[in-house]
Amino acid sequence: MHRVLVVDDVPDNITLLTFELEDDNFEVLAASNGQECLDIVKLDPQPDIILLDIHMPGISGIETLQQLKNDEDTQDIPVIMVSAHSAEERIIECIDYGAHDFVSKPIEYPVLAARMRSALRLSQALQALENANNELNVLATTDPLTGAYNRRHFFTLAENELAKKARYSGPVTIIMLDIDNFKAINDKYGHAAGDLALQKVMECLRDVCRSYDIIGRLGGEEFAVCCSQAAMEGVAALAERIRLACEAMEITFNDVSFHLTSSFGVTELSVDETFDEALHRADTLLYEAKQSGRNRVIAGRRHE
Ligand code: GH3
Ligand code: MG
Ligand code: MG
Repeated sequence: MHRVLVVDDVPDNITLLTFELEDDNFEVLAASNGQECLDIVKLDPQPDIILLDIHMPGISGIETLQQLKNDEDTQDIPVIMVSAHSAEERIIECIDYGAHDFVSKPIEYPVLAARMRSALRLSQALQALENANNELNVLATTDPLTGAYNRRHFFTLAENELAKKARYSGPVTIIMLDIDNFKAINDKYGHAAGDLALQKVMECLRDVCRSYDIIGRLGGEEFAVCCSQAAMEGVAALAERIRLACEAMEITFNDVSFHLTSSFGVTELSVDETFDEALHRADTLLYEAKQSGRNRVIAGRRHE
């Protein structure tokens, strides 16, 4: 059932229209002036469509329309303007301000109903398109297994941080994480248990990191975190907390429980280097962590 908001300063007009709309299976909300309309559209759930009278005391229908269309929360609700004065310029003005359609008084209900159906079809199609776009965007930017950003998007976002850094000159620090002996986990507990372990490591990262840290899965069992406005010492401590959380975590798959550890390389970006260069250094530090026994954090700056 669609919710329609009828805005008209003449109570009889509302009563008459409500009768026909309810008969046609609409849920009707009513407002007797522009301000009331602007208040009601803020309610949840919002109306699916608005029938808006032009001539009203106080805020006119056209001003109300403008306010509806200028507000991100309400601009997608289709509006059909209703007026006894169907001067051509008036119709053009309304459509240009974003009204979906214009209907003259006296209202011929079957015509109004057809126009409402058309407006609702369009808004539903737009909503479906927006949902599909959002889904595509998620698919294009995230790793489906863990929900971390994928490699490409991680680089896009992290390089963006770099651009910001150049402007505000706050430090940017990168963590590289690689699960230890992950191949053995797959071999011993199966690939599906390995997949679960990857998801659990991502949960640890999300729990410990700040919401604005950028977390990416660079490949296989390797993650990277880009922390902006954060110097290396603080981020090394953060990596240590992630390391401890990973180590403490019990992973249970098909009634079998196991533990894992991870190794970390942490480095701060130097002012005159690219993100790639710093990431390469983080990778070298991670390799050192592996070589020196795994399950540890090694942090280091560029040798100046
Ligand atoms: P190291 O401590 O040196 O990092 O050893 P490792 O075994 O972790 O490293 P290695 O690179 O030898 O093995 C990584 C394994 O990760 C091999 C690969 O099959 C597995 N892997 C990569 N992607 C996935 C995935 O999406 N799911 C699962 N279950 N395993 C994966
Ligand atoms: Mg590994
Ligand atoms: Mg690896």
